[in-house]
Amino acid sequence: MLIDTHCHLDEYENPLDIISAAEAVGVGGIIAVGMHVTKFQKVLDLAAQFPMVHPALGIHPEEVKDHPSIDQEFPLYIDLIRENAPKLVAIAEIGLDHHFVKNPALWSLEERIFLEMLPIAEQNKLPVSLHVKDAEMRVLDLLTSYELPAVVIHWFSGPSDIYKTAIDRGYYFSIPQAIRYSPIVQKTAQETPLEQLLLESDGPATFKGIVGEPKDCALVITEIARRRNVSREELEVIIESNTRKTFPRVFSPS
Ligand SMILES: [Zn+2]
Repeated sequence: MLIDTHCHLDEYENPLDIISAAEAVGVGGIIAVGMHVTKFQKVLDLAAQFPMVHPALGIHPEEVKDHPSIDQEFPLYIDLIRENAPKLVAIAEIGLDHHFVKNPALWSLEERIFLEMLPIAEQNKLPVSLHVKDAEMRVLDLLTSYELPAVVIHWFSGPSDIYKTAIDRGYYFSIPQAIRYSPIVQKTAQETPLEQLLLESDGPATFKGIVGEPKDCALVITEIARRRNVSREELEVIIESNTRKTFPRVFSPS
């Protein structure tokens, strides 16, 4: 069974079509990852409606530019995440962004918000799915203060020394459909130990007019298998086992 460990399912106009298309190619689970604070309830509603959808909430680092009043409002959203933690499978998408958030004056706010969510993950024994774009080193430094059951770096595109540190710490890497065109994603898929690989779509992230979807996980695993010279069947067993270790609540919903 394939699991899409990172999809912004609430962003699609018709999630039912997206879920059906995913099921048709063997995707048995989708982690619906919160991105915009205003859509937290939609993530929870989708998970309540569809058994194969599993909710994760977190304040995305880019909310400091996308949601202008976040500096005032973030404590309310933190409370919402905390209240809902028993029904979540992860705290996500969280992290730091020094790439799309170009104004460094906003980076301390990003960090304050991030540091509110890591203790929620720790206390509830929840994994995190991390956005680390151009802030990889800072994120890795901050993580050392927390005992998290699993850390997933989503769509990694950072420097190789940081990649090695993350591998040594046993972090997981979720590989997106960008494996089709991104040399750094291809390198990550090529070099990460098989036991630290996961699948993701990051849908509806779009490339060359093609909207990413959970069904792309089938393409991703086929491409990883080809590059690693393992059978797709064998790789599917390994990645499902990795997913069970990383996101156990996907397999035993509360
Ligand atoms: Zn994402």
